[in-house]
This record gives sequence, structure tokens and C-alpha cells, in this order.
Amino acid sequence: MSAATPPGGPQRAGSVKQVTSFSNPLVKDIKALVAQRKHRQRTGRFVAEGLKLATDALSAGWQVDMLVLGPQARESAAAREAAATARARGATILEVSTQILAAMTRRDNPQMVVGVYHQRLLSDADLDAALAGQPDAVWVALDHVRDPGNLGTIIRTADAVGAAGVLLVGDTTDPFAVETVRATMGSLFHVPLARLTRADFAARMSNWPGTLVGTHLKGASDYRTIAYARPTMLLMGNEQAGLPDDMADLCGALARIPQVGQADSLNLAVATGLMLYEIRRPDLAL
Ligand code: SAM
Repeated sequence: MSAATPPGGPQRAGSVKQVTSFSNPLVKDIKALVAQRKHRQRTGRFVAEGLKLATDALSAGWQVDMLVLGPQARESAAAREAAATARARGATILEVSTQILAAMTRRDNPQMVVGVYHQRLLSDADLDAALAGQPDAVWVALDHVRDPGNLGTIIRTADAVGAAGVLLVGDTTDPFAVETVRATMGSLFHVPLARLTRADFAARMSNWPGTLVGTHLKGASDYRTIAYARPTMLLMGNEQAGLPDDMADLCGALARIPQVGQADSLNLAVATGLMLYEIRRPDLAL
């Protein structure tokens, strides 16, 4: 990572501002990005906490809007380097107290670096190209997934197995919510994401050359017995309701992960992890 070579050529460097007031408009803006999905949607930005996420974002070429540094960060060579890189790419650097960082992020012990980034989702055309152009890919599709922690954990797991991307189908929760971003541990910046309606997903799957594998408590096939022909799309259901019949009917196979105890089902993120590692087993030589 270098402050001297911003991607896309030279840019006007951002400014450095000392912010001391809790009522500063930039502090209010960041608080609203943390608290309100509407504000994230309206502005197309989001907040990610921590130096690791800032370096992940910068190395993956995400556009940084602001980088907020607490007192400790200003003493850290790594944080100063991240700030220099972000600033060279046009980001505003805010220097604040620990109390302001805590108020911004609603945390008693805030991270010393907090970043504001521009959201990135695959466009329809990019999704089409990605679905068509990767014959060995493994994808994950999530139908109406509600829990931010589950979504973040799934994005992290998708990254770990080298999945091509995660499709957020229907009313799936916001990938840019602070809780989701936290749970991704930086993988948000490395896994392509797309949002689409159920109808759009069904239309794309109807002429997709790959295999759509759903997961269902009443699935006909033990997940270890399926031949996962590539490309593979793994479809996971909502935490409460599971996959509705019309979505299950789209699938070429319905996988069941055997259970022997009294649990009603597995946690969604755990089930996704088991499925992804089984699908990727031949490639990962596990
Ligand atoms: N009550 C819901 C139902 O009847 O499907 C439980 C949903 S479960 C918590 C959430 C999702 O995790 C399911 O839609 C499915 O994708 C996956 N899942 C959980 N346990 C599973 C299992 N044993 N076999 C296959 N998929 C499972």
C-alpha cells in the first residue's frame, strides 16, 4: 500500500480536520450512518471500524470517504500510513478524541480508527458477466436473511472458501450495517455482493448453465452425497421460515444436513459453512 500511487492516477488530496465538538455535522453524519439504514442508502456510504478493515479496504481499492483517527491512532505508524494513503486518494482525515469516537460508534471501547466508505454492489451487467464468465465458480445466494451477524459470518466464510460472490435475494438484511460489517472481519471488502429480487434471481437461474442447490430440513439428499457440478449456486433460506416452496422448486437438488439431536435446525451461518466446505472439498483437498 503506498500513498504515492493511488489507483486510477493522481487525485486531489483530502483535508485533515480536528473535530472537538459532539455536534459537528461530520460527527452527526457518522452517527447517522451507524444508526440508520435510510441514511446509508441515501448517501451510498457506510462505516467500518478498525485499522485492519481500513487496510483491507485500501488494498482492495474501495473508495474511502473519511478516516477518523483517535489519539492512539495518531501514535501508530500503521494507522498514519493508512491515513496518508486514504488522504492521497481524496479522503478527509478527522482527528478526534476517544469520547467522540465512542459517541460515533456507540461503543464504550471504540477502535482507534473508524472509516467511512462508499458502498459497492455489483451492477446488473457486472453480475451477468460474473455469472457467465466463471465456469468453476461457487456462489452463495441468501433468501430473505434477516440477521446481520449471520450475513457477516457468511460473507467471511464465502471469502475463506474462495466463493465468487454472495447474492442478497429479496429482503435480505443490509450488508453495510455496522453489525454485519463487524462480523465480516474485513471480508466485506473482498467478496463481490449483488442485491436482487426473488423474481430476478429466478429469471437469472432459469437460463444459468450451473447447478442450483438449495438447502432444506426436508431435502431429499444428504449433502455429502450430491455431485456439485460447476458452476454451483448454493441457496440458503431465512432463519425463521427456511426456503419457501417457490424458491425450493427452482433448485436442481435440495440438500439436507443430517441431525440426530433435538435441535430444530442448524444456525444458518453454520449450515452455510458446512455446505460451502463440502462443495469446495475437491478443490481445497480437504
Ligand atoms: N424453521 C426453519 C425451516 O423450517 O426451514 C429453519 C430455518 S434454518 C434456521 C435457516 C436455514 O439454514 C435453512 O433455510 C437452510 O438453508 C439452513 N439449514 C439449517 N439447518 C439445516 C439442515 N439440517 N439441513 C439443510 N439446511 C439447513
